[in-house]
Amino acid sequence: MPALTSPHVAAALVQRIREGSWEAFADTAAAVGYCSRPVRLVGSSTTVDATSGEVVSTFNSEDAPLGALYRRCGNRRAHVCPSCSRLYARDTFEMIRAGVQGGKQVPQDVADNPLLFLTVTAPSFGHVHGTRPNGGACRPRRRDDRTRCPHGRPTWCQRRHDDGAEQVGSPLCSGCYDYTGHVIWQWWAPELWRRLTIEVRRTLAAGLGVAESRLKDAASIQYAKVAEYQARGMIHFHALIRLDGPADGGIGSPAPAPADGRDLADLIRDAVGRVAFTAPPAFPDDPGHVLRFGAQVDVRTVRAGSRTDDPAGPLTPAQVAGYLAKYATKDATSAAGPDRRGTPHLRRVKDTCRQLHEHSTRRRVRCRATDPEYVDPYSLIGKWAHMLGFRGHFSTKSRRYSVTLGALRRARVRWQAIAEESRRTGEPIDTADLEARLLADDEETTTLVVGAWAYDGTGWETPADAALATAAASRAREYGQWKAAMKYTNHTETEGFWA
Ligand SMILES: [Zn+2]
Ligand SMILES: [Zn+2]
Ligand SMILES: [Zn+2]
Repeated sequence: MPALTSPHVAAALVQRIREGSWEAFADTAAAVGYCSRPVRLVGSSTTVDATSGEVVSTFNSEDAPLGALYRRCGNRRAHVCPSCSRLYARDTFEMIRAGVQGGKQVPQDVADNPLLFLTVTAPSFGHVHGTRPNGGACRPRRRDDRTRCPHGRPTWCQRRHDDGAEQVGSPLCSGCYDYTGHVIWQWWAPELWRRLTIEVRRTLAAGLGVAESRLKDAASIQYAKVAEYQARGMIHFHALIRLDGPADGGIGSPAPAPADGRDLADLIRDAVGRVAFTAPPAFPDDPGHVLRFGAQVDVRTVRAGSRTDDPAGPLTPAQVAGYLAKYATKDATSAAGPDRRGTPHLRRVKDTCRQLHEHSTRRRVRCRATDPEYVDPYSLIGKWAHMLGFRGHFSTKSRRYSVTLGALRRARVRWQAIAEESRRTGEPIDTADLEARLLADDEETTTLVVGAWAYDGTGWETPADAALATAAASRAREYGQWKAAMKYTNHTETEGFWA
């Protein structure tokens, strides 16, 4: 990340000041939150009072400081746009937290319902180098127990690896590692998750003694889930799972106790163990793959108010929201390391995706000869090679878990309009029910915006401007962290979040 003091950025700054365009640039960059690659639009719009037909205001991009309307890129991924990624993480944090302890128009009753933080992993496809708790050795073996694999490579590793070390996540022997199994599992991971949600509902209905089709009258499972890459390039899922009462009781209606007296954690742990999926053959003579989650399943209770450093103890809502928000902005590149080319291991995972794609193409040609409607289940696997074969969403939630990210974004736009109006008129902002008004479902239609816009391009005008914006974003971020730390003692105010 370029610093404000780097010669490149300093030169851009001097150039802008000399041209007299520094202020225009600074205003524009601030308005898009120092987005790294904003979208530029040209055109105009007119705001009309819908009842009187009176023109309230007009806006033309020619009058904008840099001659175009700049909008945030809105990208979730930190390496593409640190600023928009942070905003996404912040909204995800608030969305997750509201589902745990209420707030943002989610009733506080949600905090009374059973809440779990579940992590499910992929099974092993071969031994990989890794960091061990308490800085232990990677794969220690006694001297008299040191056997070699069929390829003549050691099956032990006495070294202690650091977190970001190149070897971490790579197999001890790439010849022994089951790359095909790895990629096929990853390809079907979203299907395994889908089956888990069905299995949890089925088990819950049985526990409550109701028919599965009637479960919604007794209870509902709400969740927010993110996918995260491990160093070995495998996805694992983290999910926050909440048991609510009847669906028509609204978000956070009182949860029933399962009739057989088991708690939600046991029920979910058992369900994870039972979920299986037989993957369709991926290549000629494919022996078949019965896919399951890995044996490493972690289920932890989340409780408001219980702050503890015990690794097995309950998690606090803020901890969980923080984890999930952080994971939600990561992608395959975070597993592949900063140069994005990835380790030889991750490159081989991508190659395996492409090989399975070639098999798929040949199979499709063959099968279409007799069945013109044939669709091959692996036909898109090559397209997802850069994601190491994972085609699912990185962040999903059930419908009634919490407030939606869309509602949070809409509220921010409304807030900006209210703040702008207040600046223009000098009238103070009416803070009564402010949050409720910002998050309200109904779109107020007293004014109409009529406009014609055309896409002009993406990004800042010059690489130097982009570097300047990115440098400013990191300064803004430091300031934001400082402000957040200050606010911790003061409680969050509605205005603070939206501004
Ligand atoms: Zn952006
Ligand atoms: Zn090792
Ligand atoms: Zn081997």
